[in-house]
Amino acid sequence: MTKLTDLTIAEARRGLAAKDFTAVDLAEAHIAAMEAHAGLNAYVTPTPDTAREMAAASDARIAKGEAGAMEGIPLAIKDLFCTDGTRTTAGSNILGNFVPPYESTVSANLWGAGAVLLGKANLDEFAMGSSNTTSAFGGAVNPWTRAAEPDRQLVPGGSSGGSAAAVAARLALGATGTDTGGSIRQPASFCGISGLKPTYGRCSRWGIVAFASSLDQAGPMARTVGDVAIMLGAMAGHDPKDSTSAPVAVPDFTAALEQGVKGLTVGIPKEYRPDEGLSPEIEAIWTRGMEMLKDAGAETVDISLPHTKYALATYYIIAPAEASSNLARYDGVRYGLRVLDEGDGLNDMYCKTRAAGFGAEVKRRILIGTYALSAGYYDAYYLKAQKVRSLIAKDFKDAFDTSVDVILTPTTPSAAFPMDDEPTDPVTMYLNDVFTVPTSLAGLPGLSVPVALTEQGLPQGLQLIGRPFDEETVLRAGRALEKAAAFTATPRLLEG
Ligand code: GLN
Repeated sequence: MTKLTDLTIAEARRGLAAKDFTAVDLAEAHIAAMEAHAGLNAYVTPTPDTAREMAAASDARIAKGEAGAMEGIPLAIKDLFCTDGTRTTAGSNILGNFVPPYESTVSANLWGAGAVLLGKANLDEFAMGSSNTTSAFGGAVNPWTRAAEPDRQLVPGGSSGGSAAAVAARLALGATGTDTGGSIRQPASFCGISGLKPTYGRCSRWGIVAFASSLDQAGPMARTVGDVAIMLGAMAGHDPKDSTSAPVAVPDFTAALEQGVKGLTVGIPKEYRPDEGLSPEIEAIWTRGMEMLKDAGAETVDISLPHTKYALATYYIIAPAEASSNLARYDGVRYGLRVLDEGDGLNDMYCKTRAAGFGAEVKRRILIGTYALSAGYYDAYYLKAQKVRSLIAKDFKDAFDTSVDVILTPTTPSAAFPMDDEPTDPVTMYLNDVFTVPTSLAGLPGLSVPVALTEQGLPQGLQLIGRPFDEETVLRAGRALEKAAAFTATPRLLEG
């Protein structure tokens, strides 16, 4: 029999329903795997006792014939989602001891559907980063390594790097992530799994530690496109507690999966071949993706999204601006860390708390954001960025209105890089997001699907972008790509 940790969510649901194993068996198998691979640092806070209790409750519901859509499925939850009674750190020292008295809507929805919490997954501090190395708890490690350098540790991507590493290393059947500019799709690509950033508003942001409120969106990460569809169905839905969550119905995402791509038109945006060139191997994988969709019956057309080249600059004004405002609440008064010495006044406490509590990247973003929002610079930077953002969104709208159903691009400009070879200048790090931020600025759904291994033996994903609230077409095209790519490689870590 397949190892319990190797099952897909769909297979685990069938096995549980057929009573081949129990939810407790499934939880125990994952708890053992988490202990065996604790060195990956995928979890900031493992919660084995909670997992056992929740799994036992699942078994009781299964016995009574009351199983939900995610019944008994053990998950990693990115440590940005508040979990009632379980420490939620956002990867930061400033929230190092924060135990929320409430549950985020998305995680509550998952528990309502029967899912089981294995632990809180590692992430870049406040979800700011593309490598996991800004986590105050040390970065998670990618379970994949280069064929020629099996001992050199690679980053899992970020910010949802702990979630991606956990799913790829079989330390969870699925995980939640959040994506502000690529944080679900980029780590999914780096770790060889599927990850979907839904349309902005599809999932509630309530109870998720805020980074950039007009961009943040929760989404599923799992080993198959079908599993992503199952999880999304349980996570999504209108929430009166989040005024930006959309009052739209949640379709049965799994029903769309096997409809194929016959009759669909797939756009290939020429601007995703940057002036300085795309690496020939990423270009070749992208071309293979186009062929796969064509062979499956889709038509591909070249399109232009002319404002793409401004997306990264626009994002790195808007996201820090919103972050500087959101993170003003960590002042030593209301949440988490407080540094206060004898005789200190209020300002001393603010300064010392924030100096000790925030890491370098978070401080950089607060400074950039505060500058961009300050009187005199607001019009030149923030307002200008908002205008360009509208133009970027309009490029996509024009393409979807006139010629295409879905757009295919690479997810990332490179595969996972070594932890000891991390770019030291922030701008090089920001370039990781070049293919993911335009979708975020436009609020559109984007799915990364693993398609091939690079010459170094590392997974590489392709991204499918869809119309607002048309996750069904994105998932359907993703499923077609998954079938054609038949990506079955597993991290070498699992071979031993
Ligand atoms: N890497 C991007 C950043 O650092 C995106 C992060 C995210 O999507 N949360 O902002």
